[in-house]
Amino acid sequence: MSSGIGPALVELSGVGKTYDGTHWAVADLDLSVRRGEFLTLLGPSGSGKTTTLMMLAGFERVSTGDIRLDGGSLADKPPHRRNMGVVFQNYALFPHMTVARNLAFPLAVRGIRGAAAEARIADALALVNLDGLGDRRINTISGGQQQRVALARALIFGPDVVLMDEPLGALDRQLREKLQVEIKQIQRRTGITVIYVTHDQAEALAMSDRIAVFADGRLQQVDTPRAIYDTPANAFVAGFIGENNRLDGIVVERSDGRCTIEIAGGATVRARATNGLATGDRAIVTVRPEAVQTGQDAGELANRFDAVVEDRLYLGDHTRIYARLPGGDQVTARSPGAVRHDRIALGWAIDSAFAFAQKETVGGTDG
Ligand code: ADP
Ligand code: MG
Repeated sequence: MSSGIGPALVELSGVGKTYDGTHWAVADLDLSVRRGEFLTLLGPSGSGKTTTLMMLAGFERVSTGDIRLDGGSLADKPPHRRNMGVVFQNYALFPHMTVARNLAFPLAVRGIRGAAAEARIADALALVNLDGLGDRRINTISGGQQQRVALARALIFGPDVVLMDEPLGALDRQLREKLQVEIKQIQRRTGITVIYVTHDQAEALAMSDRIAVFADGRLQQVDTPRAIYDTPANAFVAGFIGENNRLDGIVVERSDGRCTIEIAGGATVRARATNGLATGDRAIVTVRPEAVQTGQDAGELANRFDAVVEDRLYLGDHTRIYARLPGGDQVTARSPGAVRHDRIALGWAIDSAFAFAQKETVGGTDG
């Protein structure tokens, strides 16, 4: 974890939101964000990320629960008194004004004018690598530069927290990756607390101290990127973060945190057992492509199959293999070398595979 992360700064407890009185956009949310932390809300479209950010910013009221900032309830505080910077897609810059005028605006609202404002604007422009661009109009600078101005505008008044909702969503991949690095550097340099929203799992893995994974308005798991990737809490998280093979089956034996699953064709797979799986339960087994060994390397492993290679993609640093197990399940593997045979051995270690309950999410409606 990064140094400089302190005690809880933002605390959501029992937070829920319904817009129509029947459907919960966000439900039962308990989450605390530490001072200096970069925390990302990650989830598919409609999972409640923006709603959570809107409640934090004060643009939407909570239906249940409470949000505290530095120990004090935000319930009766309007947005402009929350001391939070926002970079939202629908919170646009003034397009016909100059960069400097846009940055002067949040300062003026807080009574900062004249030389003090000018000094802050110069500092903010330097922070986001836009020195000298203060006199340019917003509609004459690039999309990437505009996002830097939006970030500067969110930081310039010295907020406790910066909230960002998919700030890089409209940019092409190269620029997005460049700005991911820049935002991360700015966050480290300033020590500011960031609550960031994205649906892009790679972006979340790359930028965050911790990731809060959402599905159906419910928090599924909150942990460091590595812990989320290595030990997903349920089948949804396993499928959403990184890539995973998935085999459906039934638990035929379980003991000591491990279990045996019967999959298609009557074959069995040994895996780590999670969340209270019992013998007879329907289960989903996940194993990452990079954990699947091929050929000689598969020889000694507990889960070993003779598979048919259906496709192979040469990708320079590895070959991606699409194989089919005897029972019909498809398994994708990454092989460091070339694969010439049409039938190969595939295998993976027990602890590389996770068995989850068939119900895929916490509080979800599927399964
Ligand atoms: P995300 O940002 O993860 O895509 P949202 O928070 O925007 O998710 O949406 C969560 C749920 O709330 C969705 O079902 C969405 O349709 C609904 N929702 C969002 N905003 C509104 C609104 N202003 N009025 C009614 N329903 C909304
Ligand atoms: Mg959204």
